[in-house]
Amino acid sequence: MLEKKTAVVTGSTSGIGLACARAFAEQGANVVINGFGEADAIEAERSGIEKDFGVRCIYSAADMTRPDEIANMISNAENELGSVDVLMNNAGIQHVAPVDEFPIDKWNAIIAINLSSAFHAIRAAVPGMKKRGWGRIINTASAHALVASPYKSAYVAAKHGIAGLTKTVALEVAQQGVTVNAICPGYVWTPLVEAQIPDTMKARNMTEDEVKRDVLLQAQPTKQFVTVEQVAGFAVFLCSPTASAITGSILSMDGGWTAQ
Ligand code: NAD
Repeated sequence: MLEKKTAVVTGSTSGIGLACARAFAEQGANVVINGFGEADAIEAERSGIEKDFGVRCIYSAADMTRPDEIANMISNAENELGSVDVLMNNAGIQHVAPVDEFPIDKWNAIIAINLSSAFHAIRAAVPGMKKRGWGRIINTASAHALVASPYKSAYVAAKHGIAGLTKTVALEVAQQGVTVNAICPGYVWTPLVEAQIPDTMKARNMTEDEVKRDVLLQAQPTKQFVTVEQVAGFAVFLCSPTASAITGSILSMDGGWTAQ
């Protein structure tokens, strides 16, 4: 479905972004992966995508706190791979603290990586999409784009901001073949989530199952994690012709969390 197209996925060296980059490649897109990590592991992911799907994959080390590096990532993709047709703004970090103790540098980093980076990437990619009359912008938001949790002021503010950015850009490009949507996952089973389990088991004297059900999935009525494959499948669907009327939508994928 995405042959001869290029997908840029920010924050795709692990978790949701990596699954989405692989899913776009499976559909025939050349892909740009981005994010931090061990050089060898990143190269293994990059070459694995090329080998598994017979597409080109390039790695961008752009730091999502740096507007100049974000703009370069998009222009390099256009120069090396011909275009940027799918842009998935996915890079994100978290910090949890009461608002009156929230470190200012953490606030600034979360707003930069989880919100402003999407603006900078969209700003750089939209001219090419408008020129070609086709584009898909998918922002990884969160259930926290719709509801709040205590101690996550920066994350919730950034994710609500992503929802507003999604709607605004969707209106601006609605007649130019470009759709802009946000996927709002609940808890997704990623290495990040998995890594929290041993400490929580110790701290609360709970079994692994109790931590999953009563702590992590406390707000998620299905009591099941969303999987990275489900998010990736949703992102691919948003690139399909069937989804071309879906734009400006803030789309929940949260096991019922925000129905409450
Ligand atoms: P993850 O930690 O596995 O992936 C985050 C990615 O962002 C990594 O590739 C990391 O290297 C990259 N990154 C971090 N800082 C960066 C920077 N300054 N510049 C470039 N890349 C940077 O986490 P994940 O769970 O896959 O999260 C991906 C997105 O999904 C985030 O936006 C997150 O808020 C969102 N999300 C996650 C969950 C969940 O439960 N895991 C739920 C809802 C939304």
